[in-house]
Amino acid sequence: MSIFQKMAAHDHEEIVFCNDASSGLKAIIAIHNTTLGPALGGSRMWPYETAEEALEDVLRLSRGMTYKAAVAGLDLGGGKTVIIGDQKKDKSEALFRALGRFIEGLNGRYITAEDVGTSTGDMADIARETNHVRGCSQGAGGSGDPSPVTAFGALRGLQAAVKWTLDKDDLEGLTVAIQGAGQVGYYLAKQLAAKGCKLVVADIDDRRTARVKEECGARVVGTEAIFDEPCDVFSPCALGAILNSETIPRLKCKIVAGAANNQIAREEDGDAMVKRGILYAPDYIVNAGGLISVWHEGPNYNRDMVMDQVDKLYDTTLKVFELAENYDLKPEDAAQRLAEQRIAQVGKLRRIHRS
Ligand code: NAD
Repeated sequence: MSIFQKMAAHDHEEIVFCNDASSGLKAIIAIHNTTLGPALGGSRMWPYETAEEALEDVLRLSRGMTYKAAVAGLDLGGGKTVIIGDQKKDKSEALFRALGRFIEGLNGRYITAEDVGTSTGDMADIARETNHVRGCSQGAGGSGDPSPVTAFGALRGLQAAVKWTLDKDDLEGLTVAIQGAGQVGYYLAKQLAAKGCKLVVADIDDRRTARVKEECGARVVGTEAIFDEPCDVFSPCALGAILNSETIPRLKCKIVAGAANNQIAREEDGDAMVKRGILYAPDYIVNAGGLISVWHEGPNYNRDMVMDQVDKLYDTTLKVFELAENYDLKPEDAAQRLAEQRIAQVGKLRRIHRS
């Protein structure tokens, strides 16, 4: 498939390939849709084996950001950056400043923030070259790491799924299997433990599982074994495409609700989830907390107001399940319908000229 065919498949607006030999930067910025506003989405650093793999990921991730912002009621479009590299070896001030200069060249059409493999410190380096960056540390005028806010939203989405499926208002005694004990997985584990959940956790990084074991009493299992763990909720908080033909038949849960982006590998995998009677809380609904937080960043940033808005992801998640039930849709299709409705409505009113 040619690049233009790939862009046409989901109507992407723009792809920017960034290459800077001196810093070693190799990155792709994808802008999916800017109907509602500038495209905002984090910069992910990952050792992709091929540029094609990186391109696939950035196209999927940027599209998810469009829908996430739309359903969250934000005036933002969807975009994303992937940096091809190993966060443990390849990071440098020069690399992130080079990325900042490419972002500046987009003149505000795209705004970046943190994602897997990048940190507030990396955002500070980007901010030396462009203002179109969010998620810097509080000392640097930002709102800090968005992960705790994302985790709170994921908790609210998970609670909505528990209410919908199990008709329970509390999580006491439920078993949650968390895949990925990174930034979001860690904060989510802490909140779930405080609510009386039993936790099972897996990560490729032993230090990260050790922290969750120590602080939350989680049982640690292998990264493959987590898919076979009997639990009430399976919570993906690592990378995407982990709900697929190989893993779905193995799941022993009633609900999948977690923060990872793009959890469902292919459309038919969503059908398989329905057939297995597992309720899927759409990723970009429940993980919108961080985006909501960085959107409000600025001199008047008010954490309480942000948390109130993120708290409402409980209602949004229930609304998605209701829509899915009423129209016989999969939850992810119901979520997409909500997003597309808002994009179409706001897109139409933008024909009205404002002087
Ligand atoms: P992170 O890099 O801090 O954590 C990801 C963790 O997943 C790491 O600890 C990593 O070792 C682990 N991991 C990777 N492959 C794994 C595997 N096969 N099995 C188990 N663990 C594995 O990233 P994060 O910020 O916590 O984000 C986690 C997910 O949530 C990502 O998909 C991200 O896009 C999504 N997300 C994050 C935010 C946010 O605010 N940080 C917002 C929205 C969505």
